[in-house]
Amino acid sequence: MRPAADRSTGYAIAAPPVTTVEVADTDEVFPVARVYCVGRNYAEHSREMGHDPDREPPFFFMKPADAVVPSGRLPFPAQTQDLHHEVELVVALGDGGSHIPEEHALDHVFGYAVGLDMTRRDLQRAMGDQKKPWEIGKAFDHAAPIGPLNPADKVGHMAKGTISLSVNGEVKQNSDLANMIWSVPEQIAKLSEAFELKAGDIIYSGTPENVGPVVKGDVVLCKIAGLPDMSIRIV
Ligand code: MN
Repeated sequence: MRPAADRSTGYAIAAPPVTTVEVADTDEVFPVARVYCVGRNYAEHSREMGHDPDREPPFFFMKPADAVVPSGRLPFPAQTQDLHHEVELVVALGDGGSHIPEEHALDHVFGYAVGLDMTRRDLQRAMGDQKKPWEIGKAFDHAAPIGPLNPADKVGHMAKGTISLSVNGEVKQNSDLANMIWSVPEQIAKLSEAFELKAGDIIYSGTPENVGPVVKGDVVLCKIAGLPDMSIRIV
């Protein structure tokens, strides 16, 4: 049923809720504006996807803000037989801007979280093969699980440290943030050349190698050194 109009605001239908992410150890939540994702940002992952990491500038795609969901139960999405995990460092911006210089980029960071860029790999590949957009593979509901945000003034900035993912206790992805081709400051600088970034924007900074499938019942545990663990169960 259509929600009733909100007479107090003048909206023709009830306004959709703001997507928020818990801020660790506080009662506050972080409101999400846009969700940017960096493609092929670890050389070994780029190679496993069939590309040459030496020849590529960074590229970006997006997910809708309401694809961001907390850890916990994650419904297996429709229309795929190949749902993949991609563990990623997520960067949350407390300040926006355009043409942000790399040397000032970290001043714009509010904090960091562990996230998953869930991917309907079969649909993503099918669209790629046809040179069509990726949204059906990347931008579905619940496609962006995220743990609590940890303010940079508490955890510092994240340039190196282990990033790993296990499925049902078996390690699948295991790398180091230092293996990112484009660092967090470079990602922010490059993105801000193409878009005016806004406070509330978050960036999924790419996944290391050994992405793979999950099925209903799987428990996916994600770890980044210096941040609290994050896990989901596929249901
Ligand atoms: Mn990814």
